[in-house]
Amino acid sequence: MILDAAGKGRGVYAVRDFAVGELVVRGRVERVEPHRTRHSFQKDWDLHVELDETARSINHCCSPNAGVVDNVVGGYDFVAMRVIREGEEVTWDYESTEYESIAVQSCLCGSAVCRGRTRGFKHRTDSVPYTAAYLRDAGRQAGDDHR
Ligand SMILES: [Zn+2]
Repeated sequence: MILDAAGKGRGVYAVRDFAVGELVVRGRVERVEPHRTRHSFQKDWDLHVELDETARSINHCCSPNAGVVDNVVGGYDFVAMRVIREGEEVTWDYESTEYESIAVQSCLCGSAVCRGRTRGFKHRTDSVPYTAAYLRDAGRQAGDDHR
């Protein structure tokens, strides 16, 4: 369910409880973009997609309750990384799909581990759970420097 969240714009809120690993939102592709847009999701090094309204309304959090999994319809599924209670805002980490991210210049997530802004997966030195498939294949540990 999409609602307007105070101070953060729109957000997506759970309409029931979700167990760990359960599908919360299936993000379906509405448009393929050759370049990053403000609301695009990165699927591969040169592939960005715009997902449907519910998926793109899910806000970023530096310690999110949902993670992304590449899905069978070319988008991302958002699955519960921990129990999500009815009424709780569903959040995900932009850096789990975006190799470089300019989306959040000043993060309002309020997490105790808030990183202040999103810069992208390439800047992460910690392990990021539920990352996009193309990033898992990147061999980051081997020190490869992709775009
Ligand atoms: Zn944050």
